[in-house]
Amino acid sequence: MSTTIINRAAAASAFSSLLKREKGIILLVSDVHNSRLLIRTHLSSAGHRVVVWHPGDNVITMAQEHQTDIVILDMPLLHEDGYVLCRLLKKNPKTELIPVVLLTEYFHEETADLGYSAGADDFLNKPVNRLELLARIRSLIRIKHLYEALEEKILELENTQNRLQELVIRDELSGVYNYRFFQQQLHQEILRSLRFEYPVSLIIMDIDNFKKYNDQFGHPQGDKIIKRFASLIKDNIRKVDILSRYGGDEFALILPNTSRQAAISVADKLRSVVEHAYFPGAKRAQKGITLSAGVASYPADAMDAEELLQLSDIALYMAKEKGKNQIASVDSVHDSN
Ligand code: GH3
Ligand code: MG
Repeated sequence: MSTTIINRAAAASAFSSLLKREKGIILLVSDVHNSRLLIRTHLSSAGHRVVVWHPGDNVITMAQEHQTDIVILDMPLLHEDGYVLCRLLKKNPKTELIPVVLLTEYFHEETADLGYSAGADDFLNKPVNRLELLARIRSLIRIKHLYEALEEKILELENTQNRLQELVIRDELSGVYNYRFFQQQLHQEILRSLRFEYPVSLIIMDIDNFKKYNDQFGHPQGDKIIKRFASLIKDNIRKVDILSRYGGDEFALILPNTSRQAAISVADKLRSVVEHAYFPGAKRAQKGITLSAGVASYPADAMDAEELLQLSDIALYMAKEKGKNQIASVDSVHDSN
């Protein structure tokens, strides 16, 4: 409850400080000497920083480089170029949010229409009235700063959303995908396999005699083995392969576009990597860390995701039965039946 109050107070103070930041950087585009001088003096005396454009300068580049808050375009001598410039500023993603004020001797309906369709945010008649100029500039700066604050918030929200999404699909301990994501992906890959007519294989692997390790060294040390195991496997598979923690010391690896034979090779390579890897304390506990794995393939062995999972599980059971630290596939499952 108290956190909410603090957050609200912080937000309110950020908002009021935002509104106080009413001084801005103004790009003044005018080739009328007197008018330029006058506007510049008005703006500078009110505390704004004025960047002056000179014929030949690129307005778009200047607007970006000077982190401009507002562009003032003096229209009469620029004629149609002013509208073109305005349109260019509004079309460019890097400058589209900068308010543009058009300045002219006399605005009638036609010029106002042209200005609006070019994307102008406001108009001022010349000779410029000092107070009117400063009031318009101040409100446009407020809007600009509010836009910026809003954009920042949207970015923050997007980042938070991405982080939350990651949390939903990741296993906290090992950092690989979790069971729920695995189930979704398995069904997804079966559909893809059906559509593109390529095989998809599944490896279910389990750490051998992990209970003993836990009993001897305790759960926290066991957790470190699970983490190390997961990152070893992750480092030795393709980017397209999907590794998930199935539960406890059991991991599932989906191999898109991979035949059963190729998946057996992958499983055996991973078995060998784990057998030869260094796990802190494991050698003292037993022979070291090893894995057993069961392999099955769709559509060669199974009709759907459920059967694929079932067959890989049975194969894993067979690998354990045959003495662990080995791979079994549906072939060996069928052989033994
Ligand atoms: P097997 O060779 O047949 O796989 O024997 P095992 O001792 O590895 O036994 P099994 O795979 O059936 O049990 C896995 C053990 O893993 C049981 C449990 O104590 C342990 N375990 C499960 N989740 C965690 C965990 O998050 N952290 C730790 N440290 N241990 C876990
Ligand atoms: Mg085990």
